[in-house]
Amino acid sequence: MTMIYCRECGRKYSDRAAACPKCGYRPFNGAKNIWIYLVLTWFVGFLGIHKFYIGKNNQGIAMLLMGTIGWLLILPGLAVCIWALVDFIIGLCNIGTPERIFESK
Ligand SMILES: [Zn+2]
Repeated sequence: MTMIYCRECGRKYSDRAAACPKCGYRPFNGAKNIWIYLVLTWFVGFLGIHKFYIGKNNQGIAMLLMGTIGWLLILPGLAVCIWALVDFIIGLCNIGTPERIFESK
């Protein structure tokens, strides 16, 4: 167990806590999550699974529709593959700064 500093209020607390006990800020365990994110984006990105993973459910639903019934029209299916590839490249560029992906709105 190690102690980490809350990025919001500066309080020191255990890294096992899901959220800061003082202000409730939830940090992402970026070092692990960015790899899961990249694997999801590469293998099932065309279904938007990586969007659900980071909590962008609206985009996830859009990608899921494009990656399934979108193939009936071909173009949405192709578009979502490019979208997932772009997300993968952006993810690769942010391996060292995963908070940019996990905490951006
Ligand atoms: Zn805090």
